Amino acid sequence: MNTSFPLLFVSHGAPMFAIEPGLAGQRLTEVGRELPRPDAIVVLSPHWMTRGEVSVTASTAPETIHDFGGFPDALYQISYPAPGAPALAANIVGLLQKAGWKSRLDARRGLDHGAWVPLLYLAPEADIPVVQVSMPAGLDTYQAWKLGKALKPLRDMNVLIVASGSLTHNLYEFRGAASQGADYVKAFAAWTAQTLQAGNTELLLNYMQHAPSAERAHPTDEHFLPLLIALGAAGDHYETRVLEGGVSYGVLAMDSYLFSSNHQDGSESIQLSQGIENHG
Ligand code: ZN
Repeated sequence: MNTSFPLLFVSHGAPMFAIEPGLAGQRLTEVGRELPRPDAIVVLSPHWMTRGEVSVTASTAPETIHDFGGFPDALYQISYPAPGAPALAANIVGLLQKAGWKSRLDARRGLDHGAWVPLLYLAPEADIPVVQVSMPAGLDTYQAWKLGKALKPLRDMNVLIVASGSLTHNLYEFRGAASQGADYVKAFAAWTAQTLQAGNTELLLNYMQHAPSAERAHPTDEHFLPLLIALGAAGDHYETRVLEGGVSYGVLAMDSYLFSSNHQDGSESIQLSQGIENHG
């Protein structure tokens, strides 16, 4: 019987998601209630990127960073006052170093909106300690997956990992709040869900070549990489549940995914072809 804590990929959408929950907010609220209470939450978001190393927040009271401009005042009034977890942060630096990543504590950094906005729904009481882990700049898909693998042991420490990105993220095509989802957005979301449920890691790591309209869905891929981090942390044998969140502003697919271990987990072997194993 495996007791690894489930983990999440969440689509954090636009900052307005903080005050406009919609379907995605409902789904995150539901899953937050359904999961057992973790001892801590470890969150990653592309809004904290660091050069050459992975940084880990070590503050006892990480501040809520309002890292966006031009939004209604209400957004800047929100704080997410969860405590930090400096001892866990030190453990994470150790795990990362053991896996070959340069890593360090950052005692000053708080939580960016990619981290705290989804947590408003997942853990609304803000009473579970939160540690944010940075994404190293310039990660490729394979490295993102490896980063997730390095964090996987946290799941055996009653920690909830939340990898926060956006299932699609073409801000050049941003539309009105009430607009229908573009067809390519739906096609990309459907391909991703199917490929995850088929367990085809190779296709996901090479999504730019295989997913429909991948370049349009992700003109830059920093908001897709968290999904690959989640996939790495999910391990070799996982089950995925799609938390359908609809589409915001016509172009932001708001689906999230819950990953849990299936009964076969525990195998250390990696079911990937030579081509993938030789990469990097
Ligand atoms: Zn974002």
